[in-house]
Amino acid sequence: MSDGPQVGFYLHPASPLHDTGWGHPEHQGRLRALASTVGKDLLTLHGHVTQEEPGEATEDDLLRVHTKAHVERIRAACARAVDEDRVVPVDTDTKASPATWEAVLGSSGAAIQACDAVAEGRLRRAFVATRPPGHHATPDRAMGFCLANHVAVAARWLQAAGHAERVLVVDWDVHHGNGTQDIFYEDPAVFFLSVHQSPHYPGTGGADETGRGAGEGSTLNVPLPGGVSLERYRSSFTQALDRAWDAARPDFVLVSSGFDCLAGDPLGDFPLEPADLHAMTGEVVERAEASCDGRVVVLLEGGYAPARLGAGSVAVIRALADLDPPD
Ligand SMILES: [Zn+2]
Repeated sequence: MSDGPQVGFYLHPASPLHDTGWGHPEHQGRLRALASTVGKDLLTLHGHVTQEEPGEATEDDLLRVHTKAHVERIRAACARAVDEDRVVPVDTDTKASPATWEAVLGSSGAAIQACDAVAEGRLRRAFVATRPPGHHATPDRAMGFCLANHVAVAARWLQAAGHAERVLVVDWDVHHGNGTQDIFYEDPAVFFLSVHQSPHYPGTGGADETGRGAGEGSTLNVPLPGGVSLERYRSSFTQALDRAWDAARPDFVLVSSGFDCLAGDPLGDFPLEPADLHAMTGEVVERAEASCDGRVVVLLEGGYAPARLGAGSVAVIRALADLDPPD
């Protein structure tokens, strides 16, 4: 048992019901695998991690990040999925099903509530199992399985609520978080660090993309080739994290944790193991402890090998709770 606030685990009940079809890589089994693997680790997590019941975000929360036209478009697609009781395409690889609107609002809502609880000290840190994922959603476009950008919604909410002026978003999904980059590209108050495979989907995230206008210098992209060595990945990550931290001087840190950076993912070619994600989470937590009261909230993005997604999540959650990595 630990003294003081625990680490929160959030998973909105609508998120596993978001239906893309079983042939789709971002399928319903992902969250079932995640929840069951975390459940099997309860003997260790008990007393350190607490499950929280999330509510939904409001449309106003989404509108801090997305255009009115975008929110209306995705809401209409979700409403059509309900009316016709089927899966409706939103973009070439992005779908809406009858449970999707609730899953989108529930995931953004969970991210907001996690940030609120951590900012107010009720929780120490938090892990939010969002689904559908968010980091490819731009202000005006759903793409790459993402409809609303939960990490961006959380960052903007932290600022609107007066909990943070400066936010650092660390994105280690194997794909570049183009949506998050777009949203904050001209904003000096939200620093975006992405370490991703390149060349790869969605084709953005070059090292020369560093922000624009007042936001110049507040985006840091670290593109690495598929098949990169573990040693090079880990040293690149640590160096980039130091650079980002110095430039961002964050009050609050959000992590876009895609587990498709793990070896064996069908949509990526990076060499990481769950123990690496445990160590990388530890690097984030250590810096946060030194500079912003340890305020870190981790959000799920991609990860398409369900068993690896589960193992990776346990590793990250254990690191958030200052527990040893799994064997
Ligand atoms: Zn991804």
